[in-house]
Amino acid sequence: MSRQCNRPACSEPAAATYGYDYAERTVWLVDVTTQPHPATYDLCHRHADGLTVPVGWDLRDRRNVVSSLIEYRAS
Ligand SMILES: [Zn+2]
Repeated sequence: MSRQCNRPACSEPAAATYGYDYAERTVWLVDVTTQPHPATYDLCHRHADGLTVPVGWDLRDRRNVVSSLIEYRAS
């Protein structure tokens, strides 16, 4: 089962997952997770790139970290 972007009126496939860490005032963004989690939201590439966070919050974009590591180990 493929997942779609969480944004209304967007039917693009999910490319990233984000969630809120209220204690750290951080929004984290990662490559789409394999297992859906109730506290996270899926976004397509376009909406992930356009993701904004509340004033005073940090955005931690951790996309491509895992795939970069795999490429590094393969070379
Ligand atoms: Zn979208």
